Formats: sequence, structure tokens, C-alpha cells
Amino acid sequence: MPNSTNAAVVAAALLGPEDSPAYDIVNPKGAAALLIICDHASHVVPRALGRLGLSDAELRRHIGWDIGAAEVARRLSARLDAPLVLAGYSRLVIDCNRGLGDPSSMPEVSDGVVVPGNAGLSAAARVARVNACFKPYHDAIAGQLAAFALRGIAPVVLSVHSFTPVMNGIERPWHVGVLWDKDPRVPVPLIAELAAADPRRVVGDNQPYSAKEPAGYSIRTHAEAAGLPHAAVELRQDLIDTPAGAEYWAEALAAALRPILAKPDLFRAERVS
Ligand SMILES: [Zn+2]
Repeated sequence: MPNSTNAAVVAAALLGPEDSPAYDIVNPKGAAALLIICDHASHVVPRALGRLGLSDAELRRHIGWDIGAAEVARRLSARLDAPLVLAGYSRLVIDCNRGLGDPSSMPEVSDGVVVPGNAGLSAAARVARVNACFKPYHDAIAGQLAAFALRGIAPVVLSVHSFTPVMNGIERPWHVGVLWDKDPRVPVPLIAELAAADPRRVVGDNQPYSAKEPAGYSIRTHAEAAGLPHAAVELRQDLIDTPAGAEYWAEALAAALRPILAKPDLFRAERVS
């Protein structure tokens, strides 16, 4: 591994002056005891990586990002007055919801699509992506949580994702899924609230993925490890790929979360370490 000075030089070479930041923080001083995160918010690739050898259309497909997720997360942040941290680069550059060293961290193939720019990456190239994209995003989340801790608040951490309506030829019936593992404080009432609001809604409990398998890196690292109440939500992409759809699901999530966030016992002021 290069030392930190070398890594900083490599990272500086990856993001040029015309590249966008590695993360975006919305509403950092929001009043809610809630931090929203969006790992797969962006399909952008640093200019130096030449779109990873893919077309713009390919990067805008679900392999490049979570279609609609950032739109819902931004609207939810505004509705609940909650801070939101969004990743600035495509999951194909480096997946911010995978541990470093996970085979899908910088995938050579994603859902059958070969990613030429990820073939045979050198250690230096990997470190550059970690330092330019992954680390700043996670540091931004940690910074927001540290600000909550200073105020004596143990916030809910909500991770917003989206999923494809069809996978391997099979249609997925769920409109929204709530993923969770050991901590029921948020997911159990969230599932109940989402379902009760509209009986036509198909609400997945650990569907279309289960968080009982290795949980997503972000929730595991920032919420589970600190004992913070948390959940991951997955929204079906064809329901949120228009402004009207994103608006509907942001309001649906806000309405479901409000009574949960109003429970005083959920947020005992405890030191978060
Ligand atoms: Zn995702």
C-alpha cells in the first residue's frame, strides 16, 4: 500500500478541477433526528476514467446507479428536515456500499455488462478510487453522525436504494422493500406504516434482497456498529423514475417515518462512539 502522501497524489490525479465532488450534503443542519444516506445516487464517472469504456446510456442504466433514488432521498430530506449525504460517483467506479476487497467493489462485470475500465486494475488505481470517491463519502457520513453525537442525539440512519422491476427475467412484485437484520426498531414499524397507508401497496420485508445476508457496508459500518436505529429502503425503479413518482414515494416514506421519528424512546441521548 502506498503511504498516505502518495495516495493523496494519486487521488488528486483521479479527480481534476472539472470533476464534481465525491459527495453532496443536503440540509446538513436539518432538525430531524434522522440521517439519510444514498450510496448509489450518481452515475457520474471521473473524467480521467473515460466513462470506464461504457456509453453514457449504459452508465445511466441500473448498473451505473440506483435510478430515482437520489430524487426520492432529496425530497424526503426536505419533507422531514433531515440531513442527507449522497455519493457523487457511480457504483461502477467504486461501490460505496461494499467493503473494500469485496469482488463487487470495482466490478469487472455488472449484471452481464463487461466494464472495460475495471479490467485488471492495479493496486494504485484501486487506492486512487478509494481515496477520491469512497473515503470522502464515508467521512462525510461520519462527520454528520459526529455532529449528531455532539448534540447528544442518536439518530436514525436511513439508507435509500432502488431496484430493477425485472431481474433474470422474473418480475418483482414489490413496490418498496425494507431491509433489516437484527435491530427491529425502525424496520418493523416502517413496514407496518407503509402497508397500512395503502392496502394495494406491496411492501417487502427483506425483499427483494435480505439484509440478513452480509448487510450493506454503509449501514453496517455507520449504524449497526454504533447501535443507531436504522433501516434500508429499496424502491422499485419504474415507480420513481419520474418527478411525480419520486414525489409520491418521498411523501409515502415521510408519512410512514413521521410517527416512528416521534417516538421519544427511540432516540435516547447516548454517547455514540
Ligand atoms: Zn443501491
